[in-house]
Amino acid sequence: MSGRRLLADAEPVSLWHGMHGSAPVTDKLVGRDSADLVVVGGGFTGLWTAVTAKRRDPSRDVLLVEGEHIGFGASGRNGGFVSDSLTHGLAHGLALWPESLDRILRAGRENLAAFAKDLSDAGIDAGLRLAGKTVVATRPHEVLALEAVSRQLAAHGEDVTLLTAAEVRADVHSPTYLAGMRVRSGGGLIDPLALAYGLRDWALRLGVRIHERTPVTAISPGLVKTGEGSIRTGAIAIATNAYVNPLRRLRRYIVPVYDHVLATEPLPPEQWESVGWAERQGMTDAGNQFHYYRPTADGRILWGGYDAIYYFGSHRGRAREQRDASHELLAKQFMGTFPQLGNLRFTHRWAGLIDTSSRFTPYIGTDRSGRVAHAIGFTGLGVAFSRFAAIMMLDALAGRPVPRFVGSRPVPFPPEPLRYLGVQATRAALAREDRTGRRGMLLRTLDRCGVGFNS
Ligand SMILES: Cc1cc2nc3c(=O)[nH]c(=O)nc-3n(C[C@H](O)[C@H](O)[C@H](O)COP(=O)(O)OP(=O)(O)OC[C@H]3O[C@@H](n4cnc5c(N)ncnc54)[C@H](O)[C@@H]3O)c2cc1C
Repeated sequence: MSGRRLLADAEPVSLWHGMHGSAPVTDKLVGRDSADLVVVGGGFTGLWTAVTAKRRDPSRDVLLVEGEHIGFGASGRNGGFVSDSLTHGLAHGLALWPESLDRILRAGRENLAAFAKDLSDAGIDAGLRLAGKTVVATRPHEVLALEAVSRQLAAHGEDVTLLTAAEVRADVHSPTYLAGMRVRSGGGLIDPLALAYGLRDWALRLGVRIHERTPVTAISPGLVKTGEGSIRTGAIAIATNAYVNPLRRLRRYIVPVYDHVLATEPLPPEQWESVGWAERQGMTDAGNQFHYYRPTADGRILWGGYDAIYYFGSHRGRAREQRDASHELLAKQFMGTFPQLGNLRFTHRWAGLIDTSSRFTPYIGTDRSGRVAHAIGFTGLGVAFSRFAAIMMLDALAGRPVPRFVGSRPVPFPPEPLRYLGVQATRAALAREDRTGRRGMLLRTLDRCGVGFNS
């Protein structure tokens, strides 16, 4: 069946928004207000910042403003893979921060443990399952690469098992798998919008004031202007991810990239039997352009990634969230991976914005006044990292130093048209490496400069 036919019944909305709804539950801000701390953005980063600020000091008046509704952005659209990595994977951490990697790994593990504990203490049931993940090789050269990665992971204390083609196919039945790497430590899966809504409710219980449908139009130290009002404040935390940053000077540190996702209808038991997948862990493939896929609590498969799209001029907009070519390609690739699922239909198709930074990890710090903090550049790995980033933003606002791996400035992206040309050239080079197994000159040069493009 063609990709188009498979998508014929798909609603143009994130599965998570379809499941949990997407209506605001708080009023918009109208008129003048004041607060000790204003948080801009109601995704994971903003919500963790507001919650953490209140837990540190219950008497602090914390106000969170969100332009649409809580969980509108990437936090309500992502794959729900939870990872303890603060370096966008071990190999990247080893390449960029070899001397401090052990400390960063420890911080990441502590963050994940505290993340799970916070959810449990706050009674947030977001289906967190720390079942690890499986990475699969689907091209011959990726088999060798997996072996190398698995040795690295084992050397750094991860619970990792290399699987032959027969072993990985015995677990999850796909004829495309040539080898696998089962990693049982370091993460798992969650329902991301249940997490965002759980954090929202926790924030409200702690006394955070939230105003949805309240876009911030301008920021200066001490003052936040919104669509229909303004807020005087001692401190501001910007958590607007890949959206147009209210502070112009921060815009060059990320490029907004659309990442596309599909969700199937729930599989009947005989279809689940045909794919196996007993532990229902998250799966990714090993290439640069990778798919991520996972079962959901109601028996669907969420399938996303591969075709991350950057639009000239960093253009964003609702119309960009539905791209037939990307969604149809994803549908075809899904059927190639699980041909036994025959006529399974997709029920949801959507895209979300990833804030790609040139070093793949967020840039966290404050402006010169020390009163406006920011955390941007998660590069597709922010579900658990956002909790750590929130702590770093609050530390920075309190005048405490932020570790270099997040606090130093990433190399900025150049202005257009160089930006667009650079991104396209890098994407082509990454795709070429996926096809041939050879890292070309452009990628090797970027590696030497510690920069790149990822999602
Ligand atoms: C399709 C997709 C799949 C992903 N999969 C994974 C995954 O499996 N695992 C993982 O770890 N990470 C994943 N990520 C990344 C992860 O979702 C993000 O890093 C994380 O959600 C970032 O949270 P955030 O709060 O910083 O941003 P967002 O959730 O995007 O929140 C930013 C909020 O700011 C609001 N806003 C913007 N501008 C303004 C303004 N001027 N005024 C007021 N409000 C404003 C927006 O409306 C938005 O709600 C994925 C991302 C995408 C898009």
